[in-house]
Amino acid sequence: MAHKQLRVAIIGGGLAGAALANALVRISHVDVHVFESAPEFSERGAAVGLAKNAQSALAQILPSATDLLEKAGAVRMNSSRIILGSGPEAGKIVFDLAADDINMVVHRASLLRELIAHLPEESLHPNKQLAAINPSESGVEITFQDGSVYHFDAVIGADGIFSTVREHVLHGIGADEEHSPSPAGFWDCRNVVLFDEAKAILGEKYFDVDRQYDWVGDGAFIMHDVLEDRTMVQCVISGVEKDASKNRDRKRQLTQESLKSSLSSWLDGPIADGMINLICDQPDPCGYSQWEHKSTPTYVRERVCVMGDAAHATTPWQGSGAGLAIEDAMVLGTLFANIASPSEISAAFKAYDLIRRPRCQQVIDSSRETGRILCGQVDLRAEELMKLLAPRWNFIFGLDMESHKREALEALKTAR
Ligand SMILES: Cc1cc2nc3c(=O)[nH]c(=O)nc-3n(C[C@H](O)[C@H](O)[C@H](O)COP(=O)(O)OP(=O)(O)OC[C@H]3O[C@@H](n4cnc5c(N)ncnc54)[C@H](O)[C@@H]3O)c2cc1C
Repeated sequence: MAHKQLRVAIIGGGLAGAALANALVRISHVDVHVFESAPEFSERGAAVGLAKNAQSALAQILPSATDLLEKAGAVRMNSSRIILGSGPEAGKIVFDLAADDINMVVHRASLLRELIAHLPEESLHPNKQLAAINPSESGVEITFQDGSVYHFDAVIGADGIFSTVREHVLHGIGADEEHSPSPAGFWDCRNVVLFDEAKAILGEKYFDVDRQYDWVGDGAFIMHDVLEDRTMVQCVISGVEKDASKNRDRKRQLTQESLKSSLSSWLDGPIADGMINLICDQPDPCGYSQWEHKSTPTYVRERVCVMGDAAHATTPWQGSGAGLAIEDAMVLGTLFANIASPSEISAAFKAYDLIRRPRCQQVIDSSRETGRILCGQVDLRAEELMKLLAPRWNFIFGLDMESHKREALEALKTAR
């Protein structure tokens, strides 16, 4: 690879790392390698929604984005319908969010499979768990648990919320505790069930049109949407967490009884009973605390930076974690396409930090507050809820990717 001037290592092959690798692999002077600790590149968990901003960032990275989403079985959602799920107005529609835009819902594993399929095999390194990062005279040395050592011009951490690269970037900046992941005050549980089962249990009328249903009520929230070419339905119950522990495991066992107790004021409404049955139709139903990064003083340290959940883990209330990771990938791809030598990497990373950190922090803060509203910590009348909720997604959906890229290039000029 003698003609490639910039050697870049991505640590972590989740959605963020795979999106970034797709952006960098298209730049002729970049030699990109993805190191993933797991034995294969795979995703667990349920679906992600990709809103307008995420779709346009993906289209900037990959001209064949629409094709990719189709192959991943993404389902086009005709809006997210917000409805009251408990109380005297249970069943009343609050409003339809994003009725004019198409939100795509896609299984995480299928999206990752398609992103990885676009990458050359020689750039993918499974079974490589990063152990240490050491800046060197001419770049960065990275050491893996298996003892192997590599040298790169730049290292980008896409290694998730408990990122090792993040620890390196933030080492010595402020109290560790302040910038570590911490509970956001909510829990959730998920299941993916067969389309016909969900339709039979929840009612046919919720499946006439492909839309996400968001049920708002007393202390909790219920959601369902359709994925995998309309063969499966994602089911979610979330709630306010009163006693979050700082245990990294974040997991608790759930039963029909415990869910009924959490949703006691919902049980005479239209959705809770059926949804509890669907969530419990799995071998080991568990709930998880939602964690986030409350503050991050920088995403960058010299030739090392973080992206995706490693940089800005957010709660899922505005469905934006994966979307932000794709935007990061687009911006980093734009910056790397516009530098020619390793000596410019620090400037590119400074520009990335300047452009991306305020946006991502705004989403983290807004998402947490949106969770409070969606979990009914406010006046639960449809009219009041609409006023509170309707404007909250505008700044997320409304980002123009062409001007965001231009801003990044302006910032690069200044940083140089
Ligand atoms: C419940 C829930 C619902 C969500 N819903 C949405 C939604 O609707 N829309 C949306 O846009 N986003 C959503 N998100 C967020 C989205 O799923 C995440 O933001 C996104 O998947 C993060 O991707 P990532 O690649 O940054 O991190 P991860 O998926 O955590 O990937 C990190 C990768 O790094 C690897 N790794 C870790 N440590 C090391 C190491 N030391 N060495 C090598 N490899 C390592 C891991 O094995 C993993 O493969 C949701 C998140 C949650 C939790």
